[in-house]
Amino acid sequence: MALEKNTTHTLYQHILRTFAQTGNPPTPDALINTLQLSGLAEVETYLATLEAKECIYRDRVTGDILAAYPFSARPTPHRVVLEGKHSVYAMCAVDALGIPFMLDTDATVHSQCTHCGDAVSVMMVNGEFISTPDGLVVAYTPVNASCCPATDQCPLINFFCSTAHAQAWQEQNPHLTVEILTLLEAVECGRRLFGILMNPTNVRFFIDGEQGKN
Ligand SMILES: [Zn+2]
Repeated sequence: MALEKNTTHTLYQHILRTFAQTGNPPTPDALINTLQLSGLAEVETYLATLEAKECIYRDRVTGDILAAYPFSARPTPHRVVLEGKHSVYAMCAVDALGIPFMLDTDATVHSQCTHCGDAVSVMMVNGEFISTPDGLVVAYTPVNASCCPATDQCPLINFFCSTAHAQAWQEQNPHLTVEILTLLEAVECGRRLFGILMNPTNVRFFIDGEQGKN
């Protein structure tokens, strides 16, 4: 079956848009109808392509879409309330901060400090942001490039209510090498990764391996 590159892009954006609107991925039937595909076999071919390019992550057994970065179909510690209305779950702290840029919308990110468990939040309005508490940081652990982002990398990109709590967590997890980002650095990272995704021209750079050239 010949893959149409444009269809791959359109299908990917449809998945992202459905996540943004409903918090969940579209069903295979919805993808068939929306993109006028021939059936499940054709959908599967496109989904397998997107998964190979690490645009989505699926259940190994059922093939269900579990994530389309930055969105997660399952609850995570990072909940993003869009325009004060409905919520979506993000795969990691940076993904959560990238969602408002990707959708060009105001949002509030709710999460927790990975060390002490206190609730934290980031209110993002017109590209500006304010955090609770003030000293919020994001810590991440660089992992092997061959790892699976959904299972190996995302769980290690989290909020901490202060640099001190990120350092305390590092001390309790000496097998990990934690790098600490200021909130501004983490927001910039999210904007760079996901700000381009819903643009029809730019999405092909993302899928076709040229992410970051814009
Ligand atoms: Zn804390």
